[in-house]
Amino acid sequence: MTKILIIYTGGTIGMVNDPKTGVLIPFDFKQIQQNVPELARLNYDLDVYSFDPILDSSNMDPLIWADLAKLIQEKYEEFDGFVILHGSDTMSFTASALSFMLENLSKPIVLTGSQLPIGEIRTDAKENLITALEIAATKKQGKAMVPEVCIYFDYQLFRGNRSIKYNSEKFEAFRSPNYPILAEAGVNLSFYKNYISRQPVEPLKVHTNFNANIGVLKLYPGISAQAVYAITKSGVDAIVLETFGSGNTTTAAWFIESLREAIASNKLIIDITQCQRGSVALGKYETSKQLQQMGIISGYDMTFEATVTKLMYLMGQGYSNAEIARFMEQSIRGELTA
Ligand code: ASP
Repeated sequence: MTKILIIYTGGTIGMVNDPKTGVLIPFDFKQIQQNVPELARLNYDLDVYSFDPILDSSNMDPLIWADLAKLIQEKYEEFDGFVILHGSDTMSFTASALSFMLENLSKPIVLTGSQLPIGEIRTDAKENLITALEIAATKKQGKAMVPEVCIYFDYQLFRGNRSIKYNSEKFEAFRSPNYPILAEAGVNLSFYKNYISRQPVEPLKVHTNFNANIGVLKLYPGISAQAVYAITKSGVDAIVLETFGSGNTTTAAWFIESLREAIASNKLIIDITQCQRGSVALGKYETSKQLQQMGIISGYDMTFEATVTKLMYLMGQGYSNAEIARFMEQSIRGELTA
């Protein structure tokens, strides 16, 4: 029988209303089980591992990502697939981080959650959980159909490191702006094989070190030198620069000089676009030519979530700045199109 491990980290899916305060708080897995009697009817051997404490995903951090990866490593041989129940708020960050941590993944890691708690009548939790389990269990010629870290939500399966949380109110909470969906659930489960990663030939390798010493600089017309210097002159090792359009910035001399100085002091700068769709194309306009010349790294069409976690991951592996720059500009887990 197919064996699936459900890892419960928290999130709205398992929350209940605290009658004293009226706010949603995490609750244990037992009440999820009670609300989904269908789990017993699935023809899988299910096991559950519950985090302690159970978290609202706003409290996730790289140490917890590492715990998740270590748990998967420990249980990897025993199970055919993994379903991680997780809050939707930072689910795309966790999915991206896991994709980088788990090299040569050959089994499905499906993250899911819900917009309404599982105990509510109109909940989206049941469908998300049951279909995520089905996806984690699906095989083709004895091998996992989706050997990837992915997110299943509202009838669609996304590559984790291509996903973003897009809506805080609709059941359609996620989107994958720059990569097609991997599967869709209707009457049948349709897998789009051309977009799904191939089975690796090498065995799984797990990397759990992160360096989170990065800063983010989001540009807007009129940004002050004070706001820019707060990041460029700070003690961070790398800066994610969120730019306009295809990677453009102001050409004001003080601004360009602040980036040059940051690079001269050994900081890496990665240029990603504020647009949800499309890619950075350094050198296309005069307003990005200088950035390219001074050695700013292109994030191409990476999401913010993938950029931040990839950077933390690469910096945690002890690579030189030149190596990190090279890996940032190429796809290592299907996270970008260069
Ligand atoms: N605040 C919740 C969380 O991310 C939201 C959710 O689960 O959808 O944990």
